[in-house]
Amino acid sequence: MSFRLTAEQGTIREAVREFGEAEIRPVAGEYEADERYPNGLLEAAAELDLVAPNVPEEYGGAGMDPISELLVTEELWRADPGIGGSISAARFGTEMLLEYGDDWMKEEWLPRITAGETPICMGISEPAHGSNVAGMETAAERDGDEWVVNGGKMWITNGTVADVAIVMARTGEGHGGITALLTPTDVDGYEAACIDNKLGIRAQDTAEIVLNDLRIPERNVVGEVGQGFYQLMEFFAPARADVAAQAVGVAQAALDAALDYASEREQFGQSIDEFQAIEHKLAEMATDIEASRSLAYRAGAAIESGNDHLATKLASMSKLFASERAVDVTDEAIQVHGGAGYVTDHPVERFYRDARITKIYDGTSEIQKNIIADHL
Ligand SMILES: Cc1cc2nc3c(=O)[nH]c(=O)nc-3n(C[C@H](O)[C@H](O)[C@H](O)COP(=O)(O)OP(=O)(O)OC[C@H]3O[C@@H](n4cnc5c(N)ncnc54)[C@H](O)[C@@H]3O)c2cc1C
Repeated sequence: MSFRLTAEQGTIREAVREFGEAEIRPVAGEYEADERYPNGLLEAAAELDLVAPNVPEEYGGAGMDPISELLVTEELWRADPGIGGSISAARFGTEMLLEYGDDWMKEEWLPRITAGETPICMGISEPAHGSNVAGMETAAERDGDEWVVNGGKMWITNGTVADVAIVMARTGEGHGGITALLTPTDVDGYEAACIDNKLGIRAQDTAEIVLNDLRIPERNVVGEVGQGFYQLMEFFAPARADVAAQAVGVAQAALDAALDYASEREQFGQSIDEFQAIEHKLAEMATDIEASRSLAYRAGAAIESGNDHLATKLASMSKLFASERAVDVTDEAIQVHGGAGYVTDHPVERFYRDARITKIYDGTSEIQKNIIADHL
């Protein structure tokens, strides 16, 4: 078992870091304050193959291995969870298209996504059903060779900026009664409204979607009718490992900022990083991050190996651990800054707010514990 990145993975990490430092960091505060989706930066990132890097080269992607994908997400989030997170979330749904979509779906949409022209969005959660995915009520009824969809989706990343969506809808009873449907978003019956009062990741687009007699042709079923829930479950392992990488990235950003500040700030005639209390904080933060990173990469390796049981367990463990640690680490980064950490002059208050989402989406910490327990 190797704990070393390959030379190629090291190069990928460096390239994303350079891009983040040059293009994202300098404008991160501005995009957050304006709650502005980073359209132009999505295209710039696409030129470096950083948008949907999981997609194979034939559709314009980079065809990266799972650990390289995690490196991309980690470095984008290290640069800034709002902008970097928008770039890494542009792919959310491509996994389903690649595995289950028909060729025409892949040919029509994947090259546009990898080029940074549009992100894709994935409508699973609803106002009344979040953790309980199988409880969803959005209904699709057959009418000739079309499905007519009525219902609503909640908290959908990229909901107002994506040109294409995968909508999960009920076509029958129980777990075997959910179907994935592909739809362009500029059609009658699809209305998305931006949720603009988020705690963090404010440059990311999050939407509530109302589906009112939305007509979707039969040929737009992704995979098989009634198999949507099971198809979805397959992609939760990579999605959760990805959230772990997000958490590692934002925690590392907070540690970097804390290290810089602690070496510059003086109290009682000495730099505060000479106080053992501060040194110990920094040591604990760094240890939490390394442990989170190791678990995330281990989940990536399990995903690559194709061992689904292990991948599901490690992905949930890594998401649980890294997200909880990221909230602690970003909190401690504020503490190292003292009062200066409590205002927007320094990025750590933003990192603290941004980190909080990693404990919630793609399955809350409580749900991850349920999954881990089921896999012991
Ligand atoms: C910014 C953001 C972006 C998002 N992006 C997307 C997206 O792109 N697509 C999408 O479909 N969804 C998205 N979500 C939704 C997200 O996945 C859900 O918010 C999450 O799954 C929790 O569901 P909920 O909010 O309905 O909370 P609830 O399910 O109502 O949970 C409330 C509380 O009860 C706990 N709980 C619930 N059930 C159990 C149980 N069985 N055991 C123990 N505790 C339990 C939860 O852990 C939580 O603490 C996003 C959410 C946010 C905030």
